[in-house]
Amino acid sequence: MTPANTAPLMLFNSLTRSLEPFEPVHPGEARVYSCGPTVYNYAHLGNMRAYVFADTLGRVLSFKGYALKHIINITDVGHLTDDGDDGEDKLEKAAAAQAQSIWDIARHYTQAFWDDIKALNIRQPAEWSIATDYVPKMIEFAKSIADKHCYELPSGLYFDVSTVEDYGALARAATEAGEGRIEAVEGKRNAQDFAIWRKTPPGETRQMEWDSLWGPGAPGWHLECSVMSEALLGFPFDIHTGGIDHREIHHPNEIAQNQAFACSHGSGARFWMHNNFLIDRSGKMSKSSGEFLRLPLLVSKGIHPLAYRLMCLQAHYRSEMEFSWDNLLAALTRLKRLVMAVATLRSGAEPAARVEHPRLVQLLADFAGSVSDDLNTAKALTVLDEVLAQKKIDAGQRLAAIAAMDAVLGLDLPSLDRADLRLRPAAVSIDEGDIEDKLTQRKQARANKDFAASDAIRDELTALGVEVMDGDPLGWEWRIEV
Ligand code: AMP
Ligand code: ZN
Repeated sequence: MTPANTAPLMLFNSLTRSLEPFEPVHPGEARVYSCGPTVYNYAHLGNMRAYVFADTLGRVLSFKGYALKHIINITDVGHLTDDGDDGEDKLEKAAAAQAQSIWDIARHYTQAFWDDIKALNIRQPAEWSIATDYVPKMIEFAKSIADKHCYELPSGLYFDVSTVEDYGALARAATEAGEGRIEAVEGKRNAQDFAIWRKTPPGETRQMEWDSLWGPGAPGWHLECSVMSEALLGFPFDIHTGGIDHREIHHPNEIAQNQAFACSHGSGARFWMHNNFLIDRSGKMSKSSGEFLRLPLLVSKGIHPLAYRLMCLQAHYRSEMEFSWDNLLAALTRLKRLVMAVATLRSGAEPAARVEHPRLVQLLADFAGSVSDDLNTAKALTVLDEVLAQKKIDAGQRLAAIAAMDAVLGLDLPSLDRADLRLRPAAVSIDEGDIEDKLTQRKQARANKDFAASDAIRDELTALGVEVMDGDPLGWEWRIEV
């Protein structure tokens, strides 16, 4: 940690709904668990916001000098189509609809998710824990809490939420959430009780099922995160993350299980942190819509995935973020500006080994202060702009400061080039070289004051989906219309 990086790390803890200083359970270490995707379909941009957030948190913890152990799970079993217990298993349903083996479905969507993770420059966690690898441990966990906290019904083993103290404290509105839920399971003692083991109905076979004390079946979705976080990080660990929807049901249920397992009031993690949602009013984040809003769609339109990462960093993770193509294109423009500025510095210097210039040391401290303030990346980005604006300071010094900041922001500024950002959209039938040739012809026509010819070339490009940007201060002369 640089001497300037001494601001205490303050994080918003959903448990207390307040900012708290981060104090690790194990000195010098930070152990983080993030709820992973349910791999029955592609992840949409909203889902990826949850992992950009978790990655940013991990990068900040590393920047603050903690040895990070980050676990993200892959839910390949048990997540039902609603948060109650009467939905279908999302994976079983997808397998039936796509006439494929459930294992193939899980493998396919896990790989697609990992591709998105890589494209967004999200660092690899210490482990991707795969839920189906932990089923024997889940059965052991369930066995250990069954007598005191669970009861059996024909459909499964249920957790009785009245057996733990303060059930639903994390959600705050637990009663309403409970009342809002569909109470389809006969015999449940409390509306909020949930299945930790779902028995296969007599006469049916599921593609994924295991033997247990309660008959063949599959674990309930909430069980897996309790079991994997305990197995890999130990209770209590430092931080548990997920999208804000998990604050209402999934995480309160995990906490109830953790309390039962540890025979304590502790929730299993010191901090519970939640990212707010990406909102898309066009409905394209619905997985059933045609032009489904996922990362490869952006790439097919010629937009670099890191523009989306930057768009996330420009907002605070606890604020709702509205998706629009204009916002995304604005982020792309900002990314291009950053990449070009850094590439120019790189062309003339090597990064210095250490940041020594007092102004840059101060800016690094400002940067550290911003990210230590509950991950205020929006402010941190303006400090980065400030470094780039210090034209009088040695380029090597500035490159060193930028590299330190990029280790937190993950925008790949030390290695990206202008050419990397120029993705060729799938829908454009001419290639980049042709576009550049036409623009040269158009410039020539304008130089000759042949405005009819110049307009005709512009129209031709417009028809191909290429927008000509005259007078763009960055020298990006064209872009693809989205
Ligand atoms: P799922 O695959 O549905 O379990 O979701 C994976 C992660 O994405 C979870 O942490 C969710 O809370 C989160 N998530 C789901 N929808 C959104 C959204 N629109 N914006 C941000 N995060 C989301
Ligand atoms: Zn989870």
